[in-house]
Amino acid sequence: MADTTLMDKLVSLCKRRGFVFQSSEIYGGLGSVWDYGPLGVELKKNVKDRWWYAMVHARDDIEGLDAAILMHPRVWEASGHIAGFTDPLVDCRHCKNRFRADDPRIKGTPGQPDAQCPVCGSRGTLTEPRMFNLMFKTFMGPVEDQAAVVYLRPETAQGIYVNYLNVLQSSRQRIPFGIAQIGKAFRNEITPGNFIFRTREFEQMEMQFFVKPGTDAEWFERWREWRMQWHQSLGLTPAKLQWHQHGPDELAHYARAAFDIQYEFPFGWQEIEGIHNRGDFDLGRHQEFSGKKLEHFDQAANERYLPYIVETSAGADRVALTLLADAYREEQVEGETRVVLGLHPAVAPIKAGVFPLVKKDGMPELATALYHDLKRRFPAFYDDSGAIGRRYRRMDEAGTPFGITVDGETAAQRTVTVRHRDSMQQERVGVDQVAGFVAERIGRD
Ligand code: ATP
Repeated sequence: MADTTLMDKLVSLCKRRGFVFQSSEIYGGLGSVWDYGPLGVELKKNVKDRWWYAMVHARDDIEGLDAAILMHPRVWEASGHIAGFTDPLVDCRHCKNRFRADDPRIKGTPGQPDAQCPVCGSRGTLTEPRMFNLMFKTFMGPVEDQAAVVYLRPETAQGIYVNYLNVLQSSRQRIPFGIAQIGKAFRNEITPGNFIFRTREFEQMEMQFFVKPGTDAEWFERWREWRMQWHQSLGLTPAKLQWHQHGPDELAHYARAAFDIQYEFPFGWQEIEGIHNRGDFDLGRHQEFSGKKLEHFDQAANERYLPYIVETSAGADRVALTLLADAYREEQVEGETRVVLGLHPAVAPIKAGVFPLVKKDGMPELATALYHDLKRRFPAFYDDSGAIGRRYRRMDEAGTPFGITVDGETAAQRTVTVRHRDSMQQERVGVDQVAGFVAERIGRD
């Protein structure tokens, strides 16, 4: 299967089964903006819930936060986003397309006569690069003047930095401790694309860990290890995960060290999460721009310092895409192509499909009762239309790990068949045990 075809097949499956739809489709769509359908919203929620559990609930040293998207404009001066969050942009005067100046498809130097537009092929029509700020601007209040400009946050991290003392004092944590947040971020990307990989509106799962200067390198290593383990725990193919260390020319000016966790997508190795040792850059800048002291007083050691920060920053949409791309497979079964999403049961949107073998002999009634019973514990789906094989295939495409069929023996023996999505093997399980059987395998018991 050619890799571009794999992405096309994934996009079409996502639409067919209700994972992801193009935004405003009936109006012709809005470029690189996507909506999550009934199954997609469950998948992404499962990703976020697992992250929240691992970062906040399972630990004693991390607190949660939900800061607003709109922030004081000075925040973005302090963070460096107003001055530095820019990409070099070039336009083709002929076909009006727009590119990043470093787009590998451009031949020659933009602005020079030899440069060739990668879309229309014209020579000498590419403009000199100009810097383009990636932040979306809007206005607060009724008057649209410069004083009213606010930005849609391009990352969630700043909401954590400006609240760090509030959280530290109200939660009675001590350094080292962290703050975790999940929320929307917006970037006016010049070249979005690859489905939900790079979009202009996306969700981040960020955690900032505040440590005593000098202990940062050690915490950085721990966080690298923990974050890689988390991605592995989602059941991804181990050989498709790797580290990428930022070299000196890639390293952001504030970063003391940075590693990306990359996944091998059909379009190549790409970042899904960044782990950064940011030193005291962020708190130092906010202290300077706000005029408020952000130092921490360590009573035990009787010393005052500005904590260093180790950041872990992942995209919920990118992780969802990673899961979908890793899970997609096609198999030949009895002369037919079976499309399966082999999602880890813990992230699968629907955990079990419930089917009466036929629509008679009391089977629908028994199956409906079982379905309602299961649905109280986890997402389940009832389907009585079409041949049983078709119903299994629909659940295979949705990534549902278990298919439960009520048949002629159910009433007398109080048993059902459980069909496993990946092996297609079937086994008989007691009607009263089946909820526990599934719950145990999806990590709920
Ligand atoms: P890239 O180089 O891919 O643009 P970045 O280095 O700018 O990413 P960060 O600022 O470190 O990314 O953001 C942290 C995480 O947020 C990324 O690892 C990614 O998962 C997610 N992310 C960033 N930009 C986007 C986007 N435009 N669409 C979807 N997810 C994004």
